[in-house]
Amino acid sequence: MTNNLGYVRQCFPQIYFDIKQVILLGDNNGPKTAMTIAYPLNGSLYLNITNRCPNACLFCIRSSETGVGYNLWLEREPSAEEVIEAIHDPSGYREIVFCGYGEPLLRPELVVEVSQWLKKWPVKVRLNTNGLADLFLGYDVLPNLRGLIDVVSISLNADNAESFQQLTRSSFGKTAFQAVLDFARRSRNYIPQVLLSVVNYPGVNLEKAKAIATEIGVEFRVREYLE
Ligand code: SF4
Repeated sequence: MTNNLGYVRQCFPQIYFDIKQVILLGDNNGPKTAMTIAYPLNGSLYLNITNRCPNACLFCIRSSETGVGYNLWLEREPSAEEVIEAIHDPSGYREIVFCGYGEPLLRPELVVEVSQWLKKWPVKVRLNTNGLADLFLGYDVLPNLRGLIDVVSISLNADNAESFQQLTRSSFGKTAFQAVLDFARRSRNYIPQVLLSVVNYPGVNLEKAKAIATEIGVEFRVREYLE
């Protein structure tokens, strides 16, 4: 089974993704859910605030065998109060990371409210985002994040619009890649540390992606693919 799936992944990545979704999520009943709102990983505390996302990336950890080791499918989206309660005491963590099994900026008010609370503590706050907020919110959210988010990690995913669309299957189509670049460029005005990241996935040109990050003037990071 594993070897066959490996062949399908290599030759037909989109079919592979769909097969994995059926295997992992079940055909009719959907995934098992839980309320894992905050979870520690590698010295950081990750916040799972939504499962919604306008992309359907071929490498999304939602289609991996074990994800990050927690069940991150939410029964429902938590309130800001529930997120703060789940964090409880952020001291001792390297970073608090808005992440999740979805796109955190789909809940911009919650990100702002929880970040304001986190500012009472001496801890770094990171936001992981797909960089498409301009498109799905319809306004520039970055000024609202000034002074609250210390690091933003934006998923570049590819080095051109066509590859980006093949990999992310974004609901915004080919306009998405340029939106990510614009978001990354403007992030430098509001957030002290800006990273563009790609997943080390077959067909992704890491060198060209790195050159884009250099041209924009932000850091570059490669994330390993979790099967
Ligand atoms: S942007 Fe992130 S959460 Fe959304 S589908 Fe891609 S990898 Fe998954």
